[in-house]
Amino acid sequence: MDFLAELFEVFLWVVFALWLVRRIAAWLSRRPARPPQMQQQPPAPMKTLHRDPWCGTYVAEDISHRLDEEGKTLHFCSEECRMRYIARQRHSAGA
Ligand SMILES: [Zn+2]
Repeated sequence: MDFLAELFEVFLWVVFALWLVRRIAAWLSRRPARPPQMQQQPPAPMKTLHRDPWCGTYVAEDISHRLDEEGKTLHFCSEECRMRYIARQRHSAGA
């Protein structure tokens, strides 16, 4: 019955190897992949969004290109949109 004894011994080694691999995998996955500072950032404060009247894009107030018109402030996503809007206003006013 030496054959069965050897088979049993091999089986035990396989079980031990699988257990070892699982332990190593668990140890590796437990280590943080990124520094914890990434998750401790405070949530971004709510920014007021304004709709660009030229192209329809919503743009945050602090990065918008502004235009004061008839007492209200318009917000544009880019200088190009602002200039095109002004050009159209002048065109329609002069016509
Ligand atoms: Zn725009």
